[in-house]
Amino acid sequence: MPKILIVGGGYAGFYTALKLERALRPGEAEVTMVDPLPYMTYQPFLPEVVAGSIEPRHAVVSHRRHLVKTNVVTAKVTNINHATKTATITPAVGEAWDVDYDIIVVTAGSVSRTFPIPGVADEAIGLKNIEEAVEIRDRILTNFDKAANLPAGPERDRLLTFTVVGGGFAGIEVFGEMRSLASALLRYYPNLTFDDTHFHLIEAMGRIMPEVSLKTSLWVIKNLAQRGAEIHLETQLSSAVGGKIEMS
Ligand SMILES: Cc1cc2nc3c(=O)[nH]c(=O)nc-3n(C[C@H](O)[C@H](O)[C@H](O)COP(=O)(O)OP(=O)(O)OC[C@H]3O[C@@H](n4cnc5c(N)ncnc54)[C@H](O)[C@@H]3O)c2cc1C
Repeated sequence: MPKILIVGGGYAGFYTALKLERALRPGEAEVTMVDPLPYMTYQPFLPEVVAGSIEPRHAVVSHRRHLVKTNVVTAKVTNINHATKTATITPAVGEAWDVDYDIIVVTAGSVSRTFPIPGVADEAIGLKNIEEAVEIRDRILTNFDKAANLPAGPERDRLLTFTVVGGGFAGIEVFGEMRSLASALLRYYPNLTFDDTHFHLIEAMGRIMPEVSLKTSLWVIKNLAQRGAEIHLETQLSSAVGGKIEMS
């Protein structure tokens, strides 16, 4: 029986397995899907998880619960040898092993880029998985609690200043959701005001959201500015060391 190996159980890998379960006749092929995470993350919902309008568990889909005919392996593929048609599977605990395949589908997704910008790898939070979305939300909530105990000044300003790097669709979406969350939180913190919160988005290009028309992108910039969220175009992040943002 032909063996199909799917590397990665994110959106593309999960749906490949699901469609194969529906399309293949019994005994037509053996399908294995390997991912270190036990669930598929629906990334378009991550900004809403940050804002709290969607529960984290509603943005993920359990592999084992929904893929009943696929051989689900919770581990990493650490090597692929196309010449011998074998792949190495490495689990979090225990020894690695090799599997052979006839067809391989590589859908291992992407990672947030940190570039060689000092401080980014240590200080920044990416937005590719559910844990990162929850971490951003936690950071905002915790910073509000800390700031509420401080007098006005640089330390309080620092806690209430949030920066997003990247003005693509995902960056703008999470920026808007973070701003909304902060505005909604203010009612619970009588000693903090709208003017105490600061939101900045840094974008290297001369526009945001290349996926939409220029007119729409300009409207978004204006709308965010009215909501107290500033976008810095043609600006690059040069350092984030110690949580201090430097732009060039
Ligand atoms: C915040 C945000 C908002 C978005 N909004 C939209 C939107 O509104 N509309 C839209 O069309 N798209 C949107 N996208 C993009 C869309 O989510 C991605 O294009 C899509 O998730 C890509 O699917 P994928 O399967 O290629 O990768 P992923 O969904 O990232 O999945 C990759 C999987 O591979 C696994 N993996 C990684 N390395 C290995 C390995 N060595 N071995 C085994 N498994 C591995 C990972 O654990 C992960 O589960 C958004 C993305 C983000 C981040």
